[in-house]
Amino acid sequence: MKSEALIERDLKVLRRFTEVFCREKHGRELCEECRGLLAYARERLEKCPFDPKPKCKSCKVHCYQKEQRERVREIMRFSGMYFVKRGRLDWLLRYFLS
Ligand SMILES: [Zn+2]
Repeated sequence: MKSEALIERDLKVLRRFTEVFCREKHGRELCEECRGLLAYARERLEKCPFDPKPKCKSCKVHCYQKEQRERVREIMRFSGMYFVKRGRLDWLLRYFLS
C-alpha cells in the first residue's frame, strides 16, 4: 500500500475514535480542540520521515509531542471501551491491525 493511502487509513480510524470521544466527553461532533488534534495528527503523519511508514505504535521516533500523545492515548482508550461495550469490535480490529 502506498504511504498516502496508509496515512488516509490511519486518519480515518483516528477520526472515528475522536468523534466518539468528543461526542461523549465534550458533547459535540468535533469541537475545535479535537479538530485541532486531528490536524496535528495529519501533519505528523504527512511529515513522517519513513517510507513506508511504520506503525506509529512500533516506531522509535515518537514524533508526537508528549501532550498530544497523551491525548491520543486517552481517546483510543476511551473510544476503545466504547466500541467494546457496543460490540463494535470491527473498529477496534481496524485500529489494532492498522
Ligand atoms: Zn472535543
